[in-house]
Amino acid sequence: MHVVVNAATSADGKLSSRRREQIAISGEADFARVDRLRADSDAVVVGVGTVLADDPHLTVKDEQLRAHRRENGRPENPARVVVDSRGRTPTDAAVLDDAATTYLCLSEAASVDRRGALADRAELITAGDERVDLLPAFAALQEAGLERIMVEGGGELIFSLFEAGLVDELRLFVGPRIIGGRDAPTLVDGEGFVAEFPSLELEEVDRLDDGVLLTWRVADR
Ligand code: NAP
Repeated sequence: MHVVVNAATSADGKLSSRRREQIAISGEADFARVDRLRADSDAVVVGVGTVLADDPHLTVKDEQLRAHRRENGRPENPARVVVDSRGRTPTDAAVLDDAATTYLCLSEAASVDRRGALADRAELITAGDERVDLLPAFAALQEAGLERIMVEGGGELIFSLFEAGLVDELRLFVGPRIIGGRDAPTLVDGEGFVAEFPSLELEEVDRLDDGVLLTWRVADR
């Protein structure tokens, strides 16, 4: 399995504002790059915080890229995965429509009622007691044949993935905006590291739109 975290931050490292509303950080060129990366992936993963904040669809937007996937015998969109301990994903969330297969990674804390409401819209994976235990959850995704994984956020999930040692690559678009705010989500939130900080090796720097795309490989893995 190969896990790429892809995100866009403002120049000051924020994923969105303190209101946690989606903000246009990328320009057209980065948008197209993200669409290509989705089209190259078997699954696109987000945390339930992102589903509740943005209601993303997580599908490939470009018809030619979808056609190319079909020609190669793949589903036209990658699978969608939501990491969601208690099954808070709304039943009318865009990720639960029939455009792609969706996996919900739940924990034991998800009630029977929530499981029942979600079961005919998604494949349910259970790992962990209170919170989703990401190592077994990702192992289950791999068993389902999902090898090329793209993670689209948010900051809570990205921290846990680094903590679990699951990230292979970070692709970060840094855009021409200042968002600010001590409570605005950043690229990596969670509890934060105080030792054994994950190290990155810089692979590429590209100017894109009015920002910069940084491609890092996670070291020591
Ligand atoms: P998130 O990372 O999308 O989701 C976090 C939630 O996932 C947790 O609160 C938790 O909720 C659930 N979860 C279950 N198991 C977990 C685990 N092991 N580790 C971490 N989380 C786990 O939410 P977020 O950090 O609040 O990010 C949402 C914000 O990011 C929004 O403002 C959105 O607009 C922004 N965003 C920006 C970009 C970008 O590229 N600029 C991309 C994505 C999102 P439960 O306890 O209920 O399970």
